[in-house]
Amino acid sequence: MIADYLRRLGVRKNRKHLTPGDTRSGRLVFLIECILNQNARDTGAATCPAVDREVLDILLQNDVGMAQIPCPEMACLGFARTRPAGTSIRSALDQPDALYRCRLLAQQTAERIEDYRAHGVEVLAILGGNEASPGCAVHSNGVSGALRPESGVFMQALSTELAKRDIVVPFRGIRDADAGSLVQDIAWLRAQLSTPT
Ligand code: SF4
Repeated sequence: MIADYLRRLGVRKNRKHLTPGDTRSGRLVFLIECILNQNARDTGAATCPAVDREVLDILLQNDVGMAQIPCPEMACLGFARTRPAGTSIRSALDQPDALYRCRLLAQQTAERIEDYRAHGVEVLAILGGNEASPGCAVHSNGVSGALRPESGVFMQALSTELAKRDIVVPFRGIRDADAGSLVQDIAWLRAQLSTPT
């Protein structure tokens, strides 16, 4: 039972990449585009000039790689978040074409996660966005990986795709729009990366 739980979390003792001369850590997180590139944000929503530096510092200090998930809002609505007048971004993402694009992006991301894990790479977390983000908010139900309905449209699609593959990876929003919340998220990330596997 414990072995099955560890398998679902992607914990493997025998990493296939541990060959002589290969120095990779075999540890990574998946994170949303704007953590690495605030230029992806909607007008008025950037909270720093370029990157979430504290997040990157922790990842670099722990030799954890970063796999960037393309911005779902841009994938669905373009940089300008083009939508009918009076329509919220959330509502626009809930339309069939945008839902299809979010599901496609979620499938591709889940397949990439599955592929890494199949080759012994530990996917330590999926880092999403602020609580009000229409695409990437993370409102978690805990370790199960299930997300509550107020979570972003893309993050819910990704949670569904991972569940289909019987994969559990912890989700966490990086809530950089609120200093107090960001402190909590940074503390969570630090603890997550230092947990022995
Ligand atoms: S949709 Fe996601 S990746 Fe794009 S700007 Fe918003 S939070 Fe960042």
